[in-house]
Amino acid sequence: MKSPFHIMIIPTLGCPSKCHYCWSSDEGSPKMSIETVREIAEWLKDYQSDQVTITFHGGEPLLAGADFYRQALPILSESLHHLSPTFALQSNLWRLTPEMAQIFAEYHIPIGSSIDGPEEINDLQRGKGYFEKTMRGYEIAKANGLEVRFICTFTCRSVERKEEIFNFFLQSGFPLKLHPALPSLRSNDPKEWALEPEAYGELLVYLLDKYLENLGRIEVMNINDLCRCIFIRRGTVCTFVDCMGTTLAVGPDGSIYPCYRFVGMPEYVMGNVYDRPTRDDLARSDAWKLMHAFKEYVDRECGECPHIRYCRGGCPYNAIAPTNGEIRGVDPHCIAYKRIFDEITDRLNNEMFGAADMEMGGFGSPFGRRAKPGIMSILQTMATK
Ligand code: SF4
Ligand code: SF4
Repeated sequence: MKSPFHIMIIPTLGCPSKCHYCWSSDEGSPKMSIETVREIAEWLKDYQSDQVTITFHGGEPLLAGADFYRQALPILSESLHHLSPTFALQSNLWRLTPEMAQIFAEYHIPIGSSIDGPEEINDLQRGKGYFEKTMRGYEIAKANGLEVRFICTFTCRSVERKEEIFNFFLQSGFPLKLHPALPSLRSNDPKEWALEPEAYGELLVYLLDKYLENLGRIEVMNINDLCRCIFIRRGTVCTFVDCMGTTLAVGPDGSIYPCYRFVGMPEYVMGNVYDRPTRDDLARSDAWKLMHAFKEYVDRECGECPHIRYCRGGCPYNAIAPTNGEIRGVDPHCIAYKRIFDEITDRLNNEMFGAADMEMGGFGSPFGRRAKPGIMSILQTMATK
């Protein structure tokens, strides 16, 4: 099955927040002009023939201001109507105004935001006042009918308080989507906040158990994605598919990159929307070749791994950015992926075919018997939504 096509627009790499573990913001970053948005639309018109999802990402995309979105959204949706564009936004919400929220509501734009747990834990790693500012924006978004989901970044410090963080999401009624803090390539001590792969794997198993204990009261999005991809034998989030070519990002000056994570790194520029490059033109760039070399590397290196079909070596950025573009291994989170993939697979096999199925509510369970929720229960819960 073909992966959906995703374009990320980065109006600026600037950000008013100063999260300690940030790897992507850049104070001196320019802001994208409306002329560049028009060029993106003109370029995409002929570049692509399938449906497109467009995400505004950053830095902090709301720094572009209400006028930017008031003009950009009609340009993109009208010029690209043959591609049925849908939009999304990733923002800390600090600069959200009722005026902006109304524009986003008109285009049914779901928002991904970030909160790392209760205020004290969040502000320890994202900076004092962050929680309050994001929650203020959240209230404006809610009042205007916008859907907001939070990503929770776990660092090597906050993972020690995982129970408090889980309970915060549970009690707030927020679905939990987690993200491991990556080594910050802009810091003198890149690993100061990073979550080590072993700890990430254990955290995923912990969250699987907490999710099962509280099924129906919270959604843990990563666990849903992991169970789904094992069951259908295909990745459903970018980390677990061959993202090269199906995801592209456009930076403030119109430069095209393989994904938002590379924006601002000149060595990963594949072209510029002002030149209207075709797919073949982009394929001649070094960055495109490197991304595809990674795919071939994964086919060789992960060939014996039982999870290769729905893991695909993980995220190429994680694998190649820290080594300055040299392919020396797959995504270092491989250890975490193996840990959770093995855990879910073993439990699922046990539920479906093992002796434990009587207890776990698998295919062989007699009707009416009280079943303890297992992986099948997560799959059933997703199927009924
Ligand atoms: S490079 Fe990583 S983050 Fe970017 S699209 Fe690919 S898998 Fe996703
Ligand atoms: S779990 Fe590790 S070895 Fe297996 S496919 Fe993923 S990255 Fe490769």
